[in-house]
Amino acid sequence: MPSNSGQGSKTPETFRVLVVDDSTSIRRRVVQKLETMNFHIAEASSGEEALELTLDQTFDLVVSDIEMGAITGVQLCRVFRRDPGMADVAFVLLTAAKDAKTRFWGRNAGADVYLAKEEMDEKLLPIIEKLMEGRVPRDSTRPQVTGTPLERVSAVLDDHLFDVVVASEVRNLMDHVHDRIEFAERVLELAAEVIGCPYLVLQLLGPGGPTYSIRARGPWPEGDPTAGLAALAIPERSVSATHTTVEADPRFGEGQSVVGGKAHVCEIRVRDETLGTLQIFGGAHDCAELDIQSAKLIASALGIVVKSLFLVEETQLLALTDSLTGLYNRRHAAKRLEEEIARSQRNGTGLCVAMCDVDHFKAINDEFGHSAGDRVLQQIAKSLTEYVRRNDIVARWGGEEFLVIFSEIKLTAARIVAERLRGRLANTPKVEGGPEQITVSVGLAMLGQGITAEMLIEQADQALYRAKARGRNRVEVAGEERRKASTVMRKQAEGN
Ligand code: GH3
Ligand code: MG
Ligand code: MG
Repeated sequence: MPSNSGQGSKTPETFRVLVVDDSTSIRRRVVQKLETMNFHIAEASSGEEALELTLDQTFDLVVSDIEMGAITGVQLCRVFRRDPGMADVAFVLLTAAKDAKTRFWGRNAGADVYLAKEEMDEKLLPIIEKLMEGRVPRDSTRPQVTGTPLERVSAVLDDHLFDVVVASEVRNLMDHVHDRIEFAERVLELAAEVIGCPYLVLQLLGPGGPTYSIRARGPWPEGDPTAGLAALAIPERSVSATHTTVEADPRFGEGQSVVGGKAHVCEIRVRDETLGTLQIFGGAHDCAELDIQSAKLIASALGIVVKSLFLVEETQLLALTDSLTGLYNRRHAAKRLEEEIARSQRNGTGLCVAMCDVDHFKAINDEFGHSAGDRVLQQIAKSLTEYVRRNDIVARWGGEEFLVIFSEIKLTAARIVAERLRGRLANTPKVEGGPEQITVSVGLAMLGQGITAEMLIEQADQALYRAKARGRNRVEVAGEERRKASTVMRKQAEGN
């Protein structure tokens, strides 16, 4: 047995090796081989004994049997990997086992090399030589380790069990990938069960994003959510954020705020693609190391689940959009119109629709070909989208008919907007192999009392028909005739 003369802060000149096997003869064989490499060698006949040795010695390399008494080589390797002072020790696992399960565990224990005993004579030394290449003997002082071998093994098992349970809970979130907001809430619910920080933020990119969902245990500036978002460094303008305040935790109460403490940002990824982040904020305190570990664990398990959410969103989006122009299709536009009408009636704000139809489009197709016609439609879709405000909705209503829904607008403004829109479309850049100029006729209709979505579209259609009849490349407003007539009648009445 080697002496303990390597103790103290001095860096030893040779590698210190621990050989662990419950069979004396195998241990001897391994030791004999290693002696040719001029290592300091320590021996242990069980996992327990090996762990006792690590309490006051450091090692550069462990060569251990897998199948031994109470603590196996796999467990021993896991204890090494979890201990910050020993995590990078080179580890070789030896096994005589032929069964697949032992081999599987061996490979998954985190050892650097996994070697069958029958190959030992031939391969052990070359493997170790390669493994130790570029390494230098470790400083023999080591951070204080406490606990009996069994306590240390059981802590590792607990950790693993925790990891597995959390990962499986994260996988169960698959049930909610059809709805981003609900999904995000579930993620934060789970995260809040495991992580003790006062603020948790889930940022999701992808087709429906970026969105931020926030779960706050600490004080949240209810009256001024913007302040809260700013404190969490969330760009309020560019995102739709939801936030839930869970039951107040007394630790985070009174006089402490979102501000301060260090934020930890854990990326959610699959392969090279970043899908979002799970961010934890300590509020007035820094986040605990355990909480940071848990956040990392959840973020890493989330990768594939969030990817599924994005795939679902992409499919949903495909069902809503028109493949030629990328605009919303008619079905979705009709649904959105219903929603916008309801919202406008709730809030007492104005709503207008503009039905835009390309003039003499059939002739464009006939003269320049169908694919030039397609490019014209794409170009118009682009111009429309660039023109409208963020909250307005543009859709392809039919072949060469486009619907624009202007929300929160009055008729006077809508009339100006529609006229500018027509002007802009008449100046749509020429498409390759297409006509010099494209013009569009527009029928505008304003939502009135008791008007349904269908009636509103019908009014816009009639106005459009009038625009065509009156020479095209113009805007007509539904009900304008009637309004004019009644004004004339009122003036006449006043004159009398
Ligand atoms: P008006 O000025 O009265 O609107 O005349 P128009 O020729 O534009 O109207 P009409 O309804 O007679 O013709 C519309 C044409 O649009 C007929 C149809 O073949 C064509 N069309 C519909 N969808 C598409 C498409 O996706 N691509 C192309 N290239 N043409 C389309
Ligand atoms: Mg047309
Ligand atoms: Mg048409």
